[in-house]
Amino acid sequence: MGSLLLALLLQQAAGEFMDVFGEMEAAGKAVKEADAAAARFKEIFGVAPLRGAIVLTTDGKPAKDRTKDLAYAKNGAKWIWRWEAKKGAEPDETMAHELGHLFLIFWIHGTTPPAPQYGSLLPDWLDEGVASLLECAAGHKGYAAEMRKRIAAETHLPLKDLFGCLHPDSREKSSKPKAKERWLFYAESWSVTAFLLERYGAKAMRHLVATLKEGKSMDTAMGAQGLPKSVADLETAWKAWAK
Ligand SMILES: [Zn+2]
Repeated sequence: MGSLLLALLLQQAAGEFMDVFGEMEAAGKAVKEADAAAARFKEIFGVAPLRGAIVLTTDGKPAKDRTKDLAYAKNGAKWIWRWEAKKGAEPDETMAHELGHLFLIFWIHGTTPPAPQYGSLLPDWLDEGVASLLECAAGHKGYAAEMRKRIAAETHLPLKDLFGCLHPDSREKSSKPKAKERWLFYAESWSVTAFLLERYGAKAMRHLVATLKEGKSMDTAMGAQGLPKSVADLETAWKAWAK
């Protein structure tokens, strides 16, 4: 009985960057999507994410178990994450998005993250922007269309407001205001992050992360690694691109 349980526990799909444990067909699908998200992360920052293991759950099972869970790290995974897999053949975009948050947290903070909060210690717009970059192209088209409309109508967030605001659901104790429009916050976070990556590349993205995780402002990060001299110049270039 014990060895049968272990055999079930270890049914897995091993990927290039990630391992997935679960029923074979679901695990095979999830490992392709998780690996694609990890490869995208590597394109964004020039750094592969820390290897992780995803345990696919059904109604919360298998539950967490400190001793048995060690078996999930057999291929060198440094973190273990449980995910209730979406049914059906469509890509699980939410999984890819959430992996984006986890890749960032473990890259920046290691496997012992600081006090639990929404995402990493990066500003919320960059956390969401990177996570959204890991979703598939259909979602990006929706964000892009929203931003074209918003910029034309001048109802987008000025960048100093985007850079200074919290996620609409944030529980962080802070004097910073929360973003008021959820959809706009997501669309604009994606748009600015996608622009930064496309125009300035992975080196500039690494520079931004290194600067911002120290709690420094976007103004401080400007003028290096090919980035514009000021946030105002960045705003002009981004708006021209997003239109
Ligand atoms: Zn998110």
